[in-house]
Amino acid sequence: MQNLNLIDGRWCPALHGGQLAVTDPATDEVLTHVPNGGADDARAAIAAAAAALPAWRDRTAAERARPLRRLAELMLERADALATLMTREQGKPLAEARGEIAYAASFIEWAAEEAKRIYGETVPASHPDKRILVLRQPVGVTACITPWNFPAAMITRKLGPALAAGCTMVVKPAAQTPLSALALGELAIEAGIPAGVVNIVTGDARAIGGAIFDAPVVRKVSFTGSTEVGQQLMVQAAQHVTRLSLELGGHAPFLVFDDADLDAAVRGAMATKFRNSGQTCICANRFFVQAGVHDAFVARLSAAVADLRLGHGLDDDVTVGPLIDDAAMAKVADHVDDARRKGARLVIGGAAATPRPGLTARFFQPTILDGFTDQMKVCHEETFGPVAPVRRFTTEDEAIALANASPFGLAAYFYTRDASRLMRVAERLEYGIVGANDGAPSTAQAPFGGVKASGFGREGGRYVMHEYLDIKYVSWGLG
Ligand code: ADP
Repeated sequence: MQNLNLIDGRWCPALHGGQLAVTDPATDEVLTHVPNGGADDARAAIAAAAAALPAWRDRTAAERARPLRRLAELMLERADALATLMTREQGKPLAEARGEIAYAASFIEWAAEEAKRIYGETVPASHPDKRILVLRQPVGVTACITPWNFPAAMITRKLGPALAAGCTMVVKPAAQTPLSALALGELAIEAGIPAGVVNIVTGDARAIGGAIFDAPVVRKVSFTGSTEVGQQLMVQAAQHVTRLSLELGGHAPFLVFDDADLDAAVRGAMATKFRNSGQTCICANRFFVQAGVHDAFVARLSAAVADLRLGHGLDDDVTVGPLIDDAAMAKVADHVDDARRKGARLVIGGAAATPRPGLTARFFQPTILDGFTDQMKVCHEETFGPVAPVRRFTTEDEAIALANASPFGLAAYFYTRDASRLMRVAERLEYGIVGANDGAPSTAQAPFGGVKASGFGREGGRYVMHEYLDIKYVSWGLG
């Protein structure tokens, strides 16, 4: 497995030495060590990205698309190896890791296609001797800072469009999951993406982030992670007015109306809540169920949860892996204890578990809590774990008010078979992504992103291209 930084097409250790261990969260096995890079490593990567920019930017769209398409193909050809590596460093079940590799590759493929559709415009002028042209040009050198929960896809949905637009990029992956990123770097080289167009630096997040925002040549940073860190990056970005895309925390509501297809609602709830052990920013965190179907929904959800199987992601039939670290376990346990102390009823789960000898204590039973209230932490904070808190509601207005009572605005879900209600509720939910009878809305061709404290900018579809393009207006006087 590749364990060095990628700078200007070369694999290098940290300039000042130092390494970070990468461990399997399910076993604590040390998989390898990666460079503990810092500001100087980031500066070297930025210099490489700046040097590679003119030639990459000046390629035709088709010439940029070709190696991107090849990269997507290579990811699919090597999907088994990439997925195994991801499961080992991140913990998610192998089937989910395979799914993520295909999903990650789809962003590269989509971007390769989109490269050819970066159209400008001509606008009718108000003077007969003038012409107005609108050009769309790559912003230049870019950087991305990505989290550990989707170690490949969070990179490719930034890297693909950046490169397709004609930008170069410095990638700073999460410390917990650098190996998937470095493996992508290897494939990028094999696919023929020139040296310096993609650079990957692992190490000290603050130092690397600081160097990125200190460099005026870096014109755009795309970040996925916590709202707290996103807020700090906004302050740092002020220095050189660096463009940002921020995909931050979520606290998704999941509404089930009396007229819902309950089987579909339970399937959707399972997909959004327990995938990746509940460690996704769009996973449902607050279930609101109308009084007429509340008991039936809780019973069916509980039966589905009882079928989940905790374990090492590489073991057969495992559907829920470990949490990423001890802090994550402590937070989930605290949320569950807090809710129970304040009166929530435990329906199923509720405790840590060790699925088999040889595994760490980082497994939390898939859990349902019924009757959560405003006083509980689960109501206000992103749990980032396999915990489904449920609450009863009576009217549509009440459900929408409860759903919108959050500073976050990333994803929301609801189930109804009434077409008028579907449109009404979809319009009133203050969220960037709405799953209407759909628990798995993420896909390469659709705009993914939030409102309010969940950030701004969109990834996916033709919308993401705007994030890596500047608009230039040329006023052409004919003389
Ligand atoms: P998570 O809870 O998903 O770990 P974080 O926001 O802590 O979310 O981390 C997301 C990414 O941001 C990771 O790559 C992490 O290393 C990086 N990061 C954390 N703090 C900073 C910082 N101060 N400056 C730049 N990057 C940071």
